[in-house]
Amino acid sequence: MRRPTNQHMTEKVIVIGAGMAGIMAARTLHDAGLDVTVLEARERIGGRTHTDHSLGGSVDLGAAWIHGIDGNPLTPLAQKLGVEYGYTDFLNRSVTAVQAYDEDGTPLDQAEYALGQQHALAGWYLAAGSILYAAPTSVKSLQDWLDFGLPKPEGLSFSAEKGYLYQSLISTEYVCAADAHEIDWQLNEQQVGLTGGDYLLHGGGYSVISDHLAEGLDIRTGHAVTQVTVTEDGVTVTTSSPTDVAKKEEIACSRVVVSVPLGVLKSGAITFEPPLPDAKCGAIERIGFGNYEKLAMRFDKFYWPREAQRFNYMSTGDLSLFHAWLNIGYYTGEPILVSYHAGKRARHLNQLSDGDLIERTVAVMQRMFGGDIPAPLNYARTRWQHDPFSQGSYSFDQIGQQSGDRNALAQPVENRLFFAGEATHPHFHSTVHGAYETGVRAAREILQQL
Ligand SMILES: Cc1cc2nc3c(=O)[nH]c(=O)nc-3n(C[C@H](O)[C@H](O)[C@H](O)COP(=O)(O)OP(=O)(O)OC[C@H]3O[C@@H](n4cnc5c(N)ncnc54)[C@H](O)[C@@H]3O)c2cc1C
Repeated sequence: MRRPTNQHMTEKVIVIGAGMAGIMAARTLHDAGLDVTVLEARERIGGRTHTDHSLGGSVDLGAAWIHGIDGNPLTPLAQKLGVEYGYTDFLNRSVTAVQAYDEDGTPLDQAEYALGQQHALAGWYLAAGSILYAAPTSVKSLQDWLDFGLPKPEGLSFSAEKGYLYQSLISTEYVCAADAHEIDWQLNEQQVGLTGGDYLLHGGGYSVISDHLAEGLDIRTGHAVTQVTVTEDGVTVTTSSPTDVAKKEEIACSRVVVSVPLGVLKSGAITFEPPLPDAKCGAIERIGFGNYEKLAMRFDKFYWPREAQRFNYMSTGDLSLFHAWLNIGYYTGEPILVSYHAGKRARHLNQLSDGDLIERTVAVMQRMFGGDIPAPLNYARTRWQHDPFSQGSYSFDQIGQQSGDRNALAQPVENRLFFAGEATHPHFHSTVHGAYETGVRAAREILQQL
């Protein structure tokens, strides 16, 4: 009798990184019958999806929203797993989603502020058309575009001006996790957004989805990869333990999926032998990797209007801070508030001690919401910038980047090394669903070789 043959038997795949991309690469390969092991540096999986439970509710310290619910692979998963989610009106079309405040704490007129936001959105739509025809080639960055002259009606009220400023500049800096002069606006416009609106996961959070997708996979945490060597016969992956650098391991395999963040590739923490091709190294250098940090705080009660989803504090000056706040309580009824910072603002606040950051945050809350607000009962603060296994938040289209760079980053090397991770997605980068798709794509590239 002939024994059944399995052409996959000699295939051993190592996936580096157990974020959404790595988990989906491993999931796809495992389900296709391959021998696959995931090496993860941290003691937890999920990467930049990380749900915190220390504040007495689930708060996502990395990704928090499903950006575009239609056709998003995460939507049916959240539904199936019973993760609750609620709509966030980022464009403030409802007028009531955002309460904004002037620098001295005076509440701005909600309707006028929303009107200013809508004028800025309309301005961007018009600019998107004119960039193809009218703009000089020197107009490249988001800042150039604002300086060049985004269409804006005359005679806006004070509150509408602030809404215009928020929507034309500040919100894009937050979305890109970068500063206006760094963002290549034309490349940024090639990013595709899914429709259906943005939904905040709050009951359970993103970790429920990552954990579910990782079920049954061979994932070894505490294994930081330091070297990847392509040999004639396959690939050797060297790891060290983040807690005991002397503890090294070498694992041989036939193929590797590299799904570490772009920030880690930029840092050179992993040595590739032979070195990666020039086109890929150039892409690693040129694609931007931004900064975005959160401070989530739990208070004894609501000191802020419960019915607004978000607050904007319109501070001014080159290093104006505390623009963006999310009222988790709007969704959950728990008195939890999150303050966000991006780009240079995030890097600036990362230099503050916890005590200083809390003190400054509460002072701004007092200005906006009035009254005597005590320090939070508890808080969770991110420092993605200084985390050796992320080295920043997510990729953005940076001035100097070339249009083919994300594809170059995604290209396999000698059919041995395959690349996944949000930054490798041509149009869904910087998102969890983008990372998810790149994991599946890298796994399929391997399966096509077999
Ligand atoms: C603050 C913040 C807010 C965000 N908000 C949203 C949002 O609301 N919605 C959204 O869709 N997206 C959001 N994102 C982006 C989203 O989180 C990412 O695009 C996505 O999670 C990236 O997945 P990934 O698998 O590519 O990378 P990661 O999740 O970073 O996974 C890479 C893995 O590699 C591991 N690793 C690193 N170095 C090594 C090494 N040397 N050896 C072994 N393992 C290593 C890491 O520990 C990590 O687990 C946000 C990100 C941040 C930081």
